[in-house]
This record gives sequence, structure tokens and C-alpha cells, in this order.
Amino acid sequence: MGKVIAIDGPSGAGKGTIAKLLAGELGFSYLDTGALYRAVALALRGKGVAPEDNNEKLKTILRDMDVRFADGKVFLNNKDVSEAIRTPEIGHYSSVFSARKVVRDFLLDIQRSASRHSDLVAEGRDMTTVVFPYAWKKFYLDASVEERAKRRYLQLKKKGINITESEAKKDVVERDVRDSGRDIAPLRKADDAVIIDSSSMTIDKVLENIMKVVRANN
Ligand code: C5P
Repeated sequence: MGKVIAIDGPSGAGKGTIAKLLAGELGFSYLDTGALYRAVALALRGKGVAPEDNNEKLKTILRDMDVRFADGKVFLNNKDVSEAIRTPEIGHYSSVFSARKVVRDFLLDIQRSASRHSDLVAEGRDMTTVVFPYAWKKFYLDASVEERAKRRYLQLKKKGINITESEAKKDVVERDVRDSGRDIAPLRKADDAVIIDSSSMTIDKVLENIMKVVRANN
């Protein structure tokens, strides 16, 4: 088992950017677990699954599904779907389907196996609490709703996706409610996680603060 740095936080807090930089700096692998949930949502929607469909239907589809994250890309049945998962629609459905136990169980071992042969920086909503409760270092990355909505808006705009700032804010708020309010593996701050609020910090400053913690008492 490799060392794990686990990072949780709400949508748009900058976890992806920070986790990637941190992994590069330390020579660790990087795991974007949101990308796995998005790939599952893409596959389920592709098969016509609706949020109200029963567990048996979901299980049957999951049984034949191969989802993998490698080298910063996510693969669904060996096809690179890294771009296709980044739409607001798939963002919405990933948050809806991620509340289902069958989906979370399906992805649990896939996520854990990423640390079997290498040191890992893993980011998501339940890295510090459920997937890697014994992680070497734990962080909870937060930012204000306004800041996160602004970042999400600019991110999608840059990708050429048509969205207004108020739609971006609505999406961020809705996902906060769903991710924190669900029964299974809700987003919450682990007692032993270091909390970092990035609202008024540059990316470099956030990374510097994280590196200080990582380097302390190794
Ligand atoms: O991080 P990202 O926005 O790409 O994640 C998409 C959705 O997947 C989140 O809104 C959340 O509902 C779900 N997710 C989760 N647990 C994780 C990572 C993501 O429930 N560890």
C-alpha cells in the first residue's frame, strides 16, 4: 500500500487543480474520484437509466461496466471519456447517482486499488472519511459559494459551454445540498482533516499551505 493524501471538499473548491499540482510536486499518482462518478453517470444515462430506477437495473448495468482513471484521464470500457463527462448535465446526474449505495459500492474498490502500487493524492467527497480513513494526510478544501460559483462559471465558459453566472451558482448550491445531505458517505469534514479555505487565496498559496502540512512530522 502506498501513502495516501486525501482531499475532500465541495464542488468548485479547487480540489482538482490542487491535487494535480500536489501529486506532480511529490511524484505521487493522482486520482480524481469525481471523474469516476461522472463516468458512471455518463454510462447509466447512455443506457437510459433514470434516477428513480431500481437497484437491480443499476446493478445489471454496473456488472458489465469497466471504469478506470489513469494518467489524468478517465476511461469507460476502455474509451477515453475525459471530455464527455464535463458537461453540466453529467455533473448533475453524477451527483444524483452518487447518492445510490450500489454506485458507491461499485466504485469503492476501484478507488482503493489506486493506492495499492503507488503513493496517491486522491480527491473527492469521502476520501478522508470512507475511502481512505487511514490516509497519511487529510485535507478539507473549502471556499465560499460565491467564489466557487465564479470558478465553475469560468471553467465551463473556457470549455465553450454556455452557462450564466446565476446558473453556475444554482448548480453549485444544488450539489452542496445533495452531496452533504445524502445518507451514504455525505460530504463532511473529518475530525482529523486540516481545513483550508481558499476563497481569497491564490493557487500557489493553497499549495504552499498544504506542502507545509505534508512536510511537517513525516
Ligand atoms: O468532483 P466532481 O464535481 O467532478 O464530482 C461530481 C459528483 O460526483 C459530485 O457532485 C458528487 O456528487 C459525486 N462525488 C461523490 N463522491 C466522490 C466524488 C464525487 O459523491 N468521492
